[in-house]
Amino acid sequence: MFKPTIGLEVHAELNTETKMFCSCRNEPDPSKPNLNTCPVCMGHPGTLPTINKEAVKKVIKTGMALGCSIPVHSKFDRKNYFYPDLPKGYQISQYDEPLCENGLLEVKIPIDSEQGQVPYLKTVRVRRVHLEEDTGRLLHPDGEDYSLVDFNRAGVPLMELVTEPDIRSAVEARRFAEELQLILRYLNVSFADMEKGQMRVEANISLSELKNGKLPENEKGMGTKVEVKNLNSFKAVERAIDYEIKRQAEALEKGEKLIQETRGWDEVKGKTYSQREKEGAKDYRYFPEPDLPPMDHSEKFLNEIKATVPELPAQKRQRLVAEYGLGEFEAETFVQNKDLSNYFEKTVSELSQWVDETNGTAKVSPEEFLKLSKLSANYLLTDIQGLLNGESIARPEFLITPENFAELMCLIYQGKISSKIAKTVLEEMYDTGADPSNVIESKGLSQISDQSEIEDIIKKVIAENPKPVEDYKQGKEASFQFLVGKIMAASRGKANPEMTRQALKEALK
Ligand SMILES: [Zn+2]
Repeated sequence: MFKPTIGLEVHAELNTETKMFCSCRNEPDPSKPNLNTCPVCMGHPGTLPTINKEAVKKVIKTGMALGCSIPVHSKFDRKNYFYPDLPKGYQISQYDEPLCENGLLEVKIPIDSEQGQVPYLKTVRVRRVHLEEDTGRLLHPDGEDYSLVDFNRAGVPLMELVTEPDIRSAVEARRFAEELQLILRYLNVSFADMEKGQMRVEANISLSELKNGKLPENEKGMGTKVEVKNLNSFKAVERAIDYEIKRQAEALEKGEKLIQETRGWDEVKGKTYSQREKEGAKDYRYFPEPDLPPMDHSEKFLNEIKATVPELPAQKRQRLVAEYGLGEFEAETFVQNKDLSNYFEKTVSELSQWVDETNGTAKVSPEEFLKLSKLSANYLLTDIQGLLNGESIARPEFLITPENFAELMCLIYQGKISSKIAKTVLEEMYDTGADPSNVIESKGLSQISDQSEIEDIIKKVIAENPKPVEDYKQGKEASFQFLVGKIMAASRGKANPEMTRQALKEALK
């Protein structure tokens, strides 16, 4: 029986204005190769780097969000290796004094085949987060015997996060990467789009034989570590790890010896393949970067960064449930969609005022507040999402203001319009941006609450449907609902439902 031990290395390109050590624009646009370059990021002799302070702040901010300790002292080191995408022949990185150390991230794992179908919380320790520079990009034109190199990306600030080997399954790895992406976006440190290579995941996977049902206690007893690269989607992370666990287990069962190596992921074949034997730290001949001063952060500097850490996804999940009484699924949808949740919170804040004004009461009761929140969440996540059809609610073409949306919710909540009429009103608001009262008035959609008008419709419906009327009188309850439906249809959804039921009961006596 083998148990996997998995650690992740995640690289994220920071979304700073300029590159890490020069003033070139940080815009690795592949359609305009070698546009954003200068002697510094091209590694010309005699040039000197300067540290991009914004990049340092963004990495420290990330470390703070992950509960890392931030050492006051930190420095850059040279990592030596030779490859055509690296103009200087070395990369400026951080070796033994990273910006952030010892953090953790807790993620919810929805399903795990080993643990059954029960969701559980998984804590993954973060060993370190450091700052380095990205490399250029090599292009290999099809069928040609040469390669091209684009240095737009060379020198782009790159954050590297390394976890402890706490992960036990492909699902856990995927969920960790997903939650980390969300956090990077909340912090606005990286756009973290995996398909664009702005966030790249590598997994170190080893299998250990269980002794008395337990994992070996130290690193020595663990199996051979294999690194898998080129994982450019969450699905790839999950599939590649699953594949690698299976491959290693099969090899070990056959008594084969695994080698410590770096493997790539072939998305089409769904397989990992050997790339090269893994380099160790000694191969890189790290030494302190002589062209950059070490960093000593002042307390003021660190406090300023701390003040910029916003509400994080985990806190937001809890708050949305506690404050608005939302279900877990609704809360998660809002956590994943910041624009939608901003809109929701504005609506609810408007809504309590609307009910205040129309009721003439001083304040909305806590129960009422929860009901209003729930109603708005439902309309946003179903009707509005449907109208948006995948577009952002924050785009200028979306004409319904939170104020007008709140007014509509208020009309529904107070029973002034039916949910059917609400749909029509909402569509008109979506098309024209008009406020709901105007739509209702101009389209003649206001509810019929005139007793005699409703009675007239009922008389007509009874006359046209003798059979259901007879069935109801014989005790068939379903026929009553059928007749209500007919009345609502005859009034084009405008009859006050409560008055209709009362009056119909009277009429059928
Ligand atoms: Zn440059």
